[in-house]
Amino acid sequence: MSERWDEIIDWEKRRQSEDSFFEKLLHNHGVENVLDIACGTGFHSIHLAKAGFNVKAADGSEAMLAKTKENAKLYNVDFEVEKADWLKLTNTISEKYDAVICLGNALTHLFYEDYYRRALEQIYQVLNKGGILVADQRNYDAILETGYSSKHKYYYCGDEVEVKPIIIEDDFVRFAYKFSENEKYYLTLHPIRIDNLSQYILDAGFEKVETYGDFKKDYDKYDSDFIIQVAQK
Ligand code: SAM
Repeated sequence: MSERWDEIIDWEKRRQSEDSFFEKLLHNHGVENVLDIACGTGFHSIHLAKAGFNVKAADGSEAMLAKTKENAKLYNVDFEVEKADWLKLTNTISEKYDAVICLGNALTHLFYEDYYRRALEQIYQVLNKGGILVADQRNYDAILETGYSSKHKYYYCGDEVEVKPIIIEDDFVRFAYKFSENEKYYLTLHPIRIDNLSQYILDAGFEKVETYGDFKKDYDKYDSDFIIQVAQK
């Protein structure tokens, strides 16, 4: 899937839909050093590095890290790239950062409460005091309560691919990424509720957490595709 990920997300449209939300957020919090712990193919690491942030990109997948390096060259930026698993982040990440970002619905690859708690404790440890965690998720509350709908405007903006859940259960959601009848990929994710993740974040020691819906502070919980949580240490 790492080979097709950039077609799924369409960098240019995604960039327009985000409208520099993350750059502005990080600037407003006085962030200089950013650790992207789910860099994937490098979308945020690269754009943040281009915007002048001091970035380190990490991911648990070698294939994704290779894509990030390839894309960083294309975009003419240079930053450190390192393999790191969220559950053992401090084994590989020894520096502390002003911000940790975990974007693209990434955290919901975790399936167990214990894993969320461990990952969040690890993230807490690699943040400076006052530093922020920025993590997003699909709006699973809306998916579980009212079914799936998507404005097809944020995150997965590619025209050549249709993304939709084919199984929705309380404890897992299976998404299909369909390029054609003959080329489909499947990804099973954990539909974590917004309040559950906020609570795990606070339990990990963070001072406060704020949520945004589709990049807006005032949002309709049932009319937002993605929820962003911003937590301060
Ligand atoms: N942030 C990118 C974006 O928005 O385009 C990539 C999002 S992709 C859906 C999720 C990423 O999380 C994948 O690159 C995957 O390898 C990584 N990932 C999943 N579980 C992980 C773990 N336990 N530790 C480190 N990375 C992990």
